[in-house]
Amino acid sequence: MIESLQHLPPAAGSNGELAAQFTDLAPPLSARQAALEAARCLYCYDAPCMNACPTGIDVAGFIRNIQDDNIDGAAYGILKANIFGGSCARVCPTEILCEQSCVRNNPVERDPVRIGLLQRYALDNARFSGHPFTRAPATGKTIAVVGAGPAGLSCAHRLALLGNDVVVYEAREKAGGLNEFGIAKYKLPGDFAQEEVDFLMAIGGIRIEYGCRLGENLVLADLHTRYDAVFLGLGLGASRALGLTGEDAPGLMAATDYIAALRQADDLSRLPVPRRAIVIGAGNTAVDMAVQIKRLGAEDVTLVYRRGLESMSATGHEIEIAKANFVRIRTWAAPLEVLLDTDGRVAGMRFEQTRMEEGRLVRTGAFVEIAADAVFKAIGQGMCEDGLGDALVREGDRIRVDAQFRTAIPGIYAGGDCIAPGQDLTVQAVQHGKLAAHAIHADIQTSTEAAWPT
Ligand SMILES: Cc1cc2nc3c(=O)[nH]c(=O)nc-3n(C[C@H](O)[C@H](O)[C@H](O)COP(=O)(O)OP(=O)(O)OC[C@H]3O[C@@H](n4cnc5c(N)ncnc54)[C@H](O)[C@@H]3O)c2cc1C
Ligand code: SF4
Repeated sequence: MIESLQHLPPAAGSNGELAAQFTDLAPPLSARQAALEAARCLYCYDAPCMNACPTGIDVAGFIRNIQDDNIDGAAYGILKANIFGGSCARVCPTEILCEQSCVRNNPVERDPVRIGLLQRYALDNARFSGHPFTRAPATGKTIAVVGAGPAGLSCAHRLALLGNDVVVYEAREKAGGLNEFGIAKYKLPGDFAQEEVDFLMAIGGIRIEYGCRLGENLVLADLHTRYDAVFLGLGLGASRALGLTGEDAPGLMAATDYIAALRQADDLSRLPVPRRAIVIGAGNTAVDMAVQIKRLGAEDVTLVYRRGLESMSATGHEIEIAKANFVRIRTWAAPLEVLLDTDGRVAGMRFEQTRMEEGRLVRTGAFVEIAADAVFKAIGQGMCEDGLGDALVREGDRIRVDAQFRTAIPGIYAGGDCIAPGQDLTVQAVQHGKLAAHAIHADIQTSTEAAWPT
């Protein structure tokens, strides 16, 4: 997966030393800390934190349960709304969601209630004797889900809960989607992503078929014929290109591919690590990439963005993480040319400086070169179009759905990152999957068989 960097030396340090760089970003609360934090909640009527949560978790309710020492009750309340509550507690940008809207987040009190950490406390410390949810009586319906990421698995779990059987088709050899292959290692350390999948699957009625890729060995029209409904949770698997010559040169690769290799590595000391790296992008993926390569031992990491700091889509919290890890952020510079050494390998990049003129981003004619052994692209993801055909209407480069997550083809639904409009957050994908499951369940009780469009 990272052949492009095989000419670079491996990470300096033993696997153990490197793994220590990827432990929990935010340590868990102790029982005492959780009790003190829970006591700060005002149990607001019409709690704004709950309205700000894309999955509508009853935040005040679960915090009250923690205060009453009913940890299983707190965890149940969270999971009822969000079956990925464990990973969302770790990866959600709470600073722009629930915690931002907490009434205690004001200049006088300064700190919101630490909702994310309390959610994690509840889920880490719950001791259910079995799976906490019981399936409804069997409906006799079977639904195909394509993609075992947060959207697909959330949909599968909710469909199973409602009494349906589900077959999930997943292209990779593991389930979890970006929770397994994409999220920064220090946010979801260890085997947490797989443990969460195992927990979710314990409801029963869900079977995952691995190595099944739509467009290769899976045909959408066949699924449409064979199953009562189909849900597409394909995510955004294709990395956008810079469109520059030299883009295929050794030393230049997609940040998501490197992160996937890092997350799957049994021995971190075997990963190739550049001494100097450039990361191009302005979102959380770019920050994650820059921080992780720094933690693997790169000496000099520069994140380059063509606009100003205020336009970066990475949250303020993420940018602080980058700064704390000594990532240099270079703004107002647009990629112009990949610089190669005499062996045709990446030696750096030339950028053209930019500025805003009458509301438009313009190039200034001034140039800057940054030396690097590796360049990581983190300029966004697009949908893999393979196997989707023309009948699914698109909006931009994503699938168009209605408010019930129905695509243009009756019987086919979609959710998560692959639909428009999208917020591209784990919690949003989970909510899409859940709501789509309810829509599918309601529709298939009444529907007559829909034909594949010709
Ligand atoms: C590097 C990175 C870091 C991120 N960090 C955060 C974060 O900190 N917090 C946060 O909230 N969000 C984060 N996100 C976004 C978040 O991971 C996604 O919004 C979320 O995973 C979307 O879920 P999904 O199920 O729609 O797609 P995915 O998680 O992408 O899952 C899609 C699944 O479908 C499978 N698939 C794709 N195509 C096919 C096919 N043709 N046939 C069969 N299977 C297929 C894939 O293998 C995958 O398992 C990050 C994203 C990236 C890229
Ligand atoms: S807004 Fe803050 S104080 Fe109010 S219920 Fe939510 S977490 Fe508690």
